[in-house]
Amino acid sequence: MFYPFFDPTYILVIIGLVISMAASAYVNHTFRRYDQYRSRTNTSGTDAARFILSQSGINNVGVQKISGDLTDNYNGQTKILSLSEATADSTSVAAIGVAAHECGHAVQDHLNYWPMRLRTALVPAANLGSTLSFPIIIVGVLLSFNQTLIYIGIFLFSLALLFQLVTLPVEFNASRRALRILSDGQVLSRDEVPMVRKVLTAAALTYVAATLATFLQLLRLIILFGGNRDDN
Ligand SMILES: [Zn+2]
Repeated sequence: MFYPFFDPTYILVIIGLVISMAASAYVNHTFRRYDQYRSRTNTSGTDAARFILSQSGINNVGVQKISGDLTDNYNGQTKILSLSEATADSTSVAAIGVAAHECGHAVQDHLNYWPMRLRTALVPAANLGSTLSFPIIIVGVLLSFNQTLIYIGIFLFSLALLFQLVTLPVEFNASRRALRILSDGQVLSRDEVPMVRKVLTAAALTYVAATLATFLQLLRLIILFGGNRDDN
């Protein structure tokens, strides 16, 4: 008997969900903890971002404040670095760390860092993959396990995983750049840098967790549908 949405392999999906939730709780906890430390230079996230950008020779990137929680991002198309309210106005070590990480992405863009280019190029494929993979697999199952459709669905789903895999070096590299820039002692004092490292490491773990969750889902699809069903 076939249960499309609940079967023993569903445990893989649940494991992925638990890992993602744990990682997100950990990053929230770490951010809150180091958000209590005011930086000794009393620099806000916005000022830190502006300073780092100009230090890095980047003068075509605007810094703006946006609403939301941990919505900080850098947009390479519009050349706008957006900081959430908690980051933009805060002078905490955590806020400066997040602002510096986004500057790391602006520097990647400025230097044409190729994994970032590859990541951007993969966006349409990843969107297509996450939208169409399950509908196609379901249609394949309904058409008495049409193996071709099922394989196409699994392939499309693996594009979403590929995108997440390429995201990892981009994120790690942005944080490394941020820590290197902050280590020169102009925005943060040296003993504050390890706190930023903890915040950025926690943030990076959420990307690792998301990738792992997607991998477990792919594994489930392969266990369920990867084999030849001719013997049925
Ligand atoms: Zn990032």
